[in-house]
Amino acid sequence: MKFACQCGAVAGVIDKATPAEGDHVVCHCTDCRDLVRHFGKEASILDAYDGTALYQSRCARMHIHSGKENLAGLHMTDGPTLRWYAKCCDTPMFNTYKNARIPYVTTLLANCDDAGRKALGEPIGHLFLDDVDADTSDLTPMSMNRLLRRFFPRMLKDIVSGDRRRCELFDATTFEPIAEPALLSAAEKEALGRAWN
Ligand SMILES: [Zn+2]
Ligand SMILES: [Zn+2]
Repeated sequence: MKFACQCGAVAGVIDKATPAEGDHVVCHCTDCRDLVRHFGKEASILDAYDGTALYQSRCARMHIHSGKENLAGLHMTDGPTLRWYAKCCDTPMFNTYKNARIPYVTTLLANCDDAGRKALGEPIGHLFLDDVDADTSDLTPMSMNRLLRRFFPRMLKDIVSGDRRRCELFDATTFEPIAEPALLSAAEKEALGRAWN
């Protein structure tokens, strides 16, 4: 499955992107939504229920062919989820753990090619539907626990095989991000109406 930021400078592929090799989900959590709002990309990324379509897969399957120097990291909160975006055009692109110790790459499918997305099939479920105000009774809910149970065997493979050290977004030796992440500032939080956290 091919991916590219909106201006095309950052581009690459996710290898073996199939329903069996990763998880196609839609996340409706406030952080995913606000990440997209922060970059003003609601129209191109969010669905009708403010959801973000995602594919979570093994960390070494993601290959960047160009524009890697444009990737930057952002923490929405002081939690461990690290958001990666293309600073050339403010496109949110990937989510990971804060370092390579817990290995996964979650790719925003809005940046992926139609054929690649089609190969993933329908999403297996929708995360954090409680965060949605609208009626979501026609969507299939999915719990974070179920996603974690599906992720666990892939994590073990990445640790045992050493693939954890072969993620494009982290240093192979230190496990630290290739670019120093920023934390959403108080002013940026306020702009999103998040002054309470
Ligand atoms: Zn770009
Ligand atoms: Zn989310």
